[in-house]
Amino acid sequence: MPSRKFADGEVVMGRWPGSVLYYEVQVTSYDDVAHLYTVKYKDGTELALKESDIRSQSSFKHRKSQSSSSSPSRRSSSRSRSRSRSPGRPAKGRRRSASQSREHKEDKKKTIQETSLALPVLVLSKPSENNTKRYNGEPESTEKNDTSCIILEQKLKPDLEIKRVLEQYSLRSRKDDKKKEEIYSEKKTFMAVKPIEKVPTKTKELEFGGRIGTFMLILLLPATVFYLLLMCKQDDPSLLNLPPLPALESLWDWRVFGLFLLWFFLQVVFYLLPIGKVVEGLPLSTGRKLQYRINGFYAFILTAAAIGVLLYFQFELHYLYDHFLQFAVSAAAFSLALSIYLYVRSLKAPEEELAPGGNSGYFIYDFFTGHELNPRIGSFDLKYFCELRPGLMGWVVINLAMLLAEMKIHNLSVPSLSMVLVNSFQLLYVVDALWNEEAVLTTMDITHDGFGFMLAFGDLVWVPFVYSLQAFYLVGHPTTITWPIAAAITVLNCLGYYIFRSANSQKNNFRRNPADPKLANLKFIPTATGKGLLVTGWWGFVRHPNYLGDIIMALAWSLPCGFNHILPYFYVLYFICLLVHREARDEHHCKQKYGLAWERYCQRVPYRIFPYIY
Ligand code: NDP
Repeated sequence: MPSRKFADGEVVMGRWPGSVLYYEVQVTSYDDVAHLYTVKYKDGTELALKESDIRSQSSFKHRKSQSSSSSPSRRSSSRSRSRSRSPGRPAKGRRRSASQSREHKEDKKKTIQETSLALPVLVLSKPSENNTKRYNGEPESTEKNDTSCIILEQKLKPDLEIKRVLEQYSLRSRKDDKKKEEIYSEKKTFMAVKPIEKVPTKTKELEFGGRIGTFMLILLLPATVFYLLLMCKQDDPSLLNLPPLPALESLWDWRVFGLFLLWFFLQVVFYLLPIGKVVEGLPLSTGRKLQYRINGFYAFILTAAAIGVLLYFQFELHYLYDHFLQFAVSAAAFSLALSIYLYVRSLKAPEEELAPGGNSGYFIYDFFTGHELNPRIGSFDLKYFCELRPGLMGWVVINLAMLLAEMKIHNLSVPSLSMVLVNSFQLLYVVDALWNEEAVLTTMDITHDGFGFMLAFGDLVWVPFVYSLQAFYLVGHPTTITWPIAAAITVLNCLGYYIFRSANSQKNNFRRNPADPKLANLKFIPTATGKGLLVTGWWGFVRHPNYLGDIIMALAWSLPCGFNHILPYFYVLYFICLLVHREARDEHHCKQKYGLAWERYCQRVPYRIFPYIY
């Protein structure tokens, strides 16, 4: 087995992927399985590089001094050297020796070859535009740079749309040449149509409290669900009034399990129907894009029709209420079996298909967080399917069952106002998610987290059985609210929804097509990966405006239950904790991905979720 050439902490010259440019980097670690070095650029960007893309600093210094002595132009100030990289300045004839000239031609040829080979990756700039001045590491050859720039300029010229978008970026004035160079650098960064992601290596930073934390969560999450459901059944669901434990055999019913399976596989059938468009997800670390069928909304309509038929034929939907705990146990058993299957199959998955965050090598941790990023059976994407179908639609069906149970138990001809509000608000949330199904493809769950116990249990048990807690609570604890209060709660929900929807759409549209004319008024900070970070609009208000909207809605869902007990507020309290933790995870990932650009974004947008508070 070949030994590593560079040690941790060593400062070396690393090739910027897709280009012939080398920059000063520090080796932070080495993966002896993938044979990749993790290196850190001066702007904080971290990438995994092959040994062949790394050179020692001494070899560079030698070559650099040789070339500068033979080329007077190289002795010019750093400013003119920078300018020579500008596309606005085509390479002028320079005095060169014959051998240098030959070498230059070779380099030029190599650059063109590499550029065309690397297409569509056209990152020929420094890792980050905003380091142009601060950065000490120099490119290997200025002429190579010029050549690259000419090629790039030819590619950019016709693209007026991109120019227009770049012109929106007015974070600094463009009065002098230095600034022009920076703007050009933004253009180059912007043109990198394929983000350069880290090739998955071993997960070193463990989240969720590491092995012990994830082990505890595997026990704690199901326990919490059952505690909440048992509490909700109590006449007095005060925190100190612990519910009696039911007999174990009463928790399992094969008929209920059969109905659960029927529901799950009915959704599979709807998912497989060849209706709806097929779209591509974001590029994976390998550059490949997976295809996804967008037909969640159609599946919802078909589900609604099926439920309508059942009700027409007098099927008693409140059966769900009567056997609620047994349904939750069935869903939990199924999600556990699914998680075991997912883990076992992930052991055979190629390294590049593993999740960046779920590849620690520790069984319990990888089992919980999800080892494989996009487990598929043929074109059937298990994670994408579970994200929005059985659990989310199941939540709506459960809410409807609770509404019918309330009417039946309390002999009502119409459901209570509180129940109507809870049902309507949550129905809007689910319909919105299905209508905007495509947006799920840019979320952390799809792009970063693997599919393991966390998402399987979350999607199939936590969402349908905990999120429907308010409706479940209202069946046993009728609450009366007045029309003005109902109107005020509705306004609150609409406000939350407006923030949530517009923020998510803004980011999703920007990620899908930054040159979209509808986004013409937005400004962004370019980053080394080719993606921009919005700094105006919702994403300039707080760093996670979508979370803010979601939390406001969560509060509006709990308020119709009154203030007699804290139980219906479990959702909003848990959700704040979840999103604060999720935000911290996302910040950490973004810092790794975007380095200095992310820090600049944080300076510009100081609040994370709640303006002037947090
Ligand atoms: P987000 O949709 O908030 O996506 C975060 C990603 O957005 C970042 O990783 C980054 O990814 C990108 N990003 C961050 N800042 C910017 C910026 N300034 N400009 C452009 N892109 C930026 O993440 P989630 O997946 O956590 O949430 C999606 C939705 O789902 C939210 O509305 C959330 O409230 C909701 N949600 C609901 C849950 C529930 O149980 N009801 C649970 C979890 C989430 P990159 O740069 O790589 O594109």
